[in-house]
Amino acid sequence: MVSQTIELLKSELPVEQESLTLNGDVNTGLVLVDVVNGFCTVGAGNLAPQQPNKQISEMVDESVRLARAFCEKKWPVFGFIDCHHPDVPEHPYPPHCIAGTDEARLVPALQWLENEPNVKLRFKDCINGYLGSVEKDGSNVFVDWIKDNQIKVILVVGICTDVCVLDFVSSTLSARNRGFLPSLEDVFVYSGGCATYDLPVDVARAIKGAIAHPQDLLHHVGLYMARGRGAKIISEVSFGALVEP
Ligand SMILES: [Zn+2]
Repeated sequence: MVSQTIELLKSELPVEQESLTLNGDVNTGLVLVDVVNGFCTVGAGNLAPQQPNKQISEMVDESVRLARAFCEKKWPVFGFIDCHHPDVPEHPYPPHCIAGTDEARLVPALQWLENEPNVKLRFKDCINGYLGSVEKDGSNVFVDWIKDNQIKVILVVGICTDVCVLDFVSSTLSARNRGFLPSLEDVFVYSGGCATYDLPVDVARAIKGAIAHPQDLLHHVGLYMARGRGAKIISEVSFGALVEP
């Protein structure tokens, strides 16, 4: 039933995808959205998968692969880390990623990023990383990162496709369109590098007040919405040598 629905959805709302080869001729930044234990590591917390999850583990693997490649080339990387004060709940979600806990830390396979000079990490206490980058003085850490590195293209991966990734991508595209990010031309969302959480309809029905969140369906919808806002959806990312003309 769910798989039929997804097939129908994919034919009614097709997401056109392209492949991307990065060879260093365009300043490209990698943005990792919340690849943290609280959302990715089995049993880590209220919003972590309760059992191994293929879409999430593939997203983590691809995030690691891209982070390694970017760091080898000393290309800029920006990582959001969801992180909340224990007294400030984030409605409508249960407590998660409390500051100072392991939940509010990159997954073990990415913790080496904490010591890389080309990596900027940003703790954020809201869904939307663009807003979560605003400092008390009104400056924006993400906007400054784009400006300082003269980034033309960002490649976005992480979790959740239809929540934190979509909100960040939508705001970034609006900001670009308003001229806040003069160097930024394109926002690429890598489908295999994104994932969302799974709360199947039958499970949600048994939990009072829960909103069902079938994973494959909402991952697809997230990509569709991002594309509708002007992002380009990428099915494959490879690295090529720069060929001199
Ligand atoms: Zn949060």
